[in-house]
Amino acid sequence: MPYQPNLQEGVISVKEYRIKPLLTGWFHMNWGLIMSPIAAGYFADLPVFMFLIEGEDGEQIIVDASYQHDHVPKFIFGPHRTPELEVPEVLKNNGVDPLSIETVIITHLHHDHTGYLYLFENADYYVQEEELINAYFPMGYQAVGGYPDEWIDLVPRFRLVNGDFHLKEGIDLIFAPGHTAGHQAVGVNTSRGRAIIFGDAAYLYGGLAKRFPQQFYEVVAKGGVAGKELDLDDPEVQEVLARVFGARYGGYFGPSILNPGEIMRSLAKLDLMADIVIPGHDPLLTRMEVLPDDYDLE
Ligand SMILES: [Zn+2]
Repeated sequence: MPYQPNLQEGVISVKEYRIKPLLTGWFHMNWGLIMSPIAAGYFADLPVFMFLIEGEDGEQIIVDASYQHDHVPKFIFGPHRTPELEVPEVLKNNGVDPLSIETVIITHLHHDHTGYLYLFENADYYVQEEELINAYFPMGYQAVGGYPDEWIDLVPRFRLVNGDFHLKEGIDLIFAPGHTAGHQAVGVNTSRGRAIIFGDAAYLYGGLAKRFPQQFYEVVAKGGVAGKELDLDDPEVQEVLARVFGARYGGYFGPSILNPGEIMRSLAKLDLMADIVIPGHDPLLTRMEVLPDDYDLE
C-alpha cells in the first residue's frame, strides 16, 4: 500500500507570521525608472520601507534596513524624511530592540536597504553571494545605487546564500535577480497563504500588471514618455500596450536597472508563487499596517 500522509486537520501545520511594512522615509523620483519606460514623465514620492516579520511566538525578523540620508545621491533620489521616520525611532515605536534581533535578511545591497544594518549588532545577515560580489565591484550605473562603507565591516557576519534557500519553518529566501545581480525575495507563510516580499524585483503593484491592471494603468496614464499624460483611449496607445502585454512575459514591468530579461523571469516566478504580493516601494503599502490582516488587493 502506498504511503499515505496524515492530512487530518491540525496535524500538519507550518508556523505562521505577520508582516509589518515600516515606513522610514521617501525618495522623490522619476517613476519611469521604477516600473516601465512608458511612465517616464511622472515624478512623485516613493516610500522607503523596512519590513518586520513577526512569528506567532513573538519571534522578530528584519528585512532590509532603509537609507542614511547623507549616503544617497540627492540629485537622483531626492531623499527626505520627517523626524518620526528616523529608523531608530520607527524600530522603537514598533517594539523592536535592534540588539535582540538575530536574523536580518538583505534583499539586495542598494543604499536604501543597507543604511541601518549596523544597528543589529547581534544578528546574522542573509544575503546572496552573487549580490555581495557585484555590490562590492558594481557594473556601470549600478554604482550609484550602493554605499559599501555601510556594510563592508559587517561581512564577517554575512551568511552567504546561493540561489533558493529554506531559511526556517515558514520562511524561504527566493533568488530573484535582475534588479541587481544577486537580488532575493522572501517567502513568508501567513494565515492567508504565502506572502512574498518582492524587494525591488517589483517596486509597485503596477509592476505585476497581469494581476493588478488598475494599478498599472493609473501609473502609466500619469507618466507618458513625452512628459505629458498618456491618453489610454488613444488607439495608438492601446495598440502599443496590447503588443507589450502580448509579448513574452508581457504584463510584468520591473525596475530594469541591471538586466531587464532577468527581472521579467524573476517577476513571473514570484508571481506564480505568491498568494499575497508585497512590492518594495508601493505607496499603497502605507495604508497596510499589518499583513495579511490589512491586505485588500486581489
Ligand atoms: Zn529599494
